[in-house]
Amino acid sequence: MGTIVILGTANAVPDDRHENTHLLVQEGQRTILVDCTGNPLAELKRAGVNPDQLTDVILTHFHPDHVSGVPLLLMDLWLSGRKHGIRIHGLADTLGRMQTMMKLFDCESWPNFFTVDYHILPDIAQAELLADGDFIITASPVKHLIPTIGIRVEFVRSGKVVAYSSDTEPYQNVVDLGLESDILIHEATGTSFGHSTPRQAGEIAQAASAKSLYLIHYPADLDEEKWLWEARQSFTGPVYLAGDYLRIEL
Ligand SMILES: [Zn+2]
Repeated sequence: MGTIVILGTANAVPDDRHENTHLLVQEGQRTILVDCTGNPLAELKRAGVNPDQLTDVILTHFHPDHVSGVPLLLMDLWLSGRKHGIRIHGLADTLGRMQTMMKLFDCESWPNFFTVDYHILPDIAQAELLADGDFIITASPVKHLIPTIGIRVEFVRSGKVVAYSSDTEPYQNVVDLGLESDILIHEATGTSFGHSTPRQAGEIAQAASAKSLYLIHYPADLDEEKWLWEARQSFTGPVYLAGDYLRIEL
């Protein structure tokens, strides 16, 4: 059975109940982290995942609240004795900066450091990120302050589809990613350049004919009822606030 675990829900400023936005998707042999912040090993364990099982990391864009955990993740996996490689997917802009950051940490000198395979995605809509017996994942550019992707995750066995907007203004590519999805996870930062309000997230979910909408990347001190109410003005399906460590089986 496919699983999603929300590992964080806050916008760039987390609090004691909301870590920065990132999530985990799992099916069969693959365990995929989508963005990486906070204290990655502790969070994976808290989500009931053996960190050694992690196969892939998808980085949506190079803002600190989405990528700052990567060096700690890689170092801790290495110190825990990991031998097998890991694959990191993202746009050239994101992965170029990530490789620079890892160089600053001098990771090339870490003895027996496992292989990190950087998979650069083309900056085009519906780029194939991964396709195997567990997942078909595509990525499309969205509209944020720097090069950013949203993703569409299809669980092959169940046929269920989950789309994640990442950070974005309302944008057609997100509608296309979320088309008839079972779950659209859309950011709802509020009125802020390069982001979306809950009402706009609802409009995107409605345009995509998504079956449900989960709001994420919201202010940690938000008025929960207001956020839900706003999204429900524009989306006729069920709307939920994603919560930290929310687990969804598909
Ligand atoms: Zn951002």
